[in-house]
Amino acid sequence: MPIRNTATIFEKLTKMGDVTLFEPAGDAPFQEVQHSDLKQKRTAFDFADCISHVQTPRGSKPVLKTMITSACERNCNYCPFRAGRGKTQRVTLTPDEIAHATVTMQQAKQVDGLFLSSGIIKGGITSQDKIIDTAEILRKKYNYTGYVHLKIMPGAEYDQLLRAMQLADRVSINLEGPTEERLEALAPKKGFMQELLIQLQNAHEIRQRYDRIRASIVTQFVVGAVGDTDLELLSLSENLYQKLGLARAYYSAFSPIVDTPFDNLPAASRPRQHRLYQSSFLLRDYAWDVEDLPFLGDGNLRTDVDPKRAWADIHLRQNPIDLMTADRTELMRVPGIGSKAAEAILKARRERRLRDMGQLGRLGIRNPEQMMPYVLLGGKRPPQQLMLF
Ligand code: SF4
Repeated sequence: MPIRNTATIFEKLTKMGDVTLFEPAGDAPFQEVQHSDLKQKRTAFDFADCISHVQTPRGSKPVLKTMITSACERNCNYCPFRAGRGKTQRVTLTPDEIAHATVTMQQAKQVDGLFLSSGIIKGGITSQDKIIDTAEILRKKYNYTGYVHLKIMPGAEYDQLLRAMQLADRVSINLEGPTEERLEALAPKKGFMQELLIQLQNAHEIRQRYDRIRASIVTQFVVGAVGDTDLELLSLSENLYQKLGLARAYYSAFSPIVDTPFDNLPAASRPRQHRLYQSSFLLRDYAWDVEDLPFLGDGNLRTDVDPKRAWADIHLRQNPIDLMTADRTELMRVPGIGSKAAEAILKARRERRLRDMGQLGRLGIRNPEQMMPYVLLGGKRPPQQLMLF
């Protein structure tokens, strides 16, 4: 049995540091907070950089985010771990070390979950085996029941994907680019169809075919380095939501890393990333089609306005929606009305007639005045003066 040196394991984890910062993991990636930013008391091993607070399907959790290895034989142009980059300190942990560290940190109440990725060494299959081995040790040897999010390596086999999905709560299959051409520019050695899209199709098929698969499926795009448009990104996202049951698409605004081929490119804008997330939620949760989104002539969205409001300005100012007669989907087209607000309106109007915007405020809808340009109440524009409630 290998003798573990816990100090050495945590030293290695600390050296990994923020290596997975560029890989969002939670349900609200823009709210993801690195543990070291919380200014909490540091522990003997300063592994705070490896912990992120993420929104998981099981609630908000501090999660250990790390990699089997930060060495890689591939050469993705945006990535700090690409082969040959001298500035990256290469660190490798064994599956046993990562499982042991996870359980130790869990017992110390430092984390409540694991996000595990890896660079690729000796091919995707070998690297995937190490990720799966870690999850096997956690689940079987330590009877670990915490949250586990596993990365699926490009080129991993079907059976590996199946096993990962049996062990994990969530798997990431990162497409990186929205088309074959964009991926080629971002990551010359990754195969869009044969290595990545096929995995998403297989993951969907596994979820349909096998019982007791609990893993949801997510993907990530690197945004704004190679001319990708919002239309490309959101068209593919819509397809993945509708046809392959994708739980979430992550949009990571490109940020240049020194000593990579893209180090002279400008960073992508954070507002663009934010608008992509807003639009993606409209596609996934609000029954919008990509054609509904108000793209500009260049295939991108405005960054200065929420896409739902931009759509409403075009479509609802002249043809407002009547809150007394609209169905749930129509109600959710109005800026300020999400699923909870729509339910509250439907329930309230079954009981009484809605006469003024003040009533909406009393239903718990915040800032109902923002929806005034887009709605009617019983066929009439809502009276302005009754806003004072
Ligand atoms: S395969 Fe992953 S770790 Fe390796 S260079 Fe590409 S993005 Fe980076």
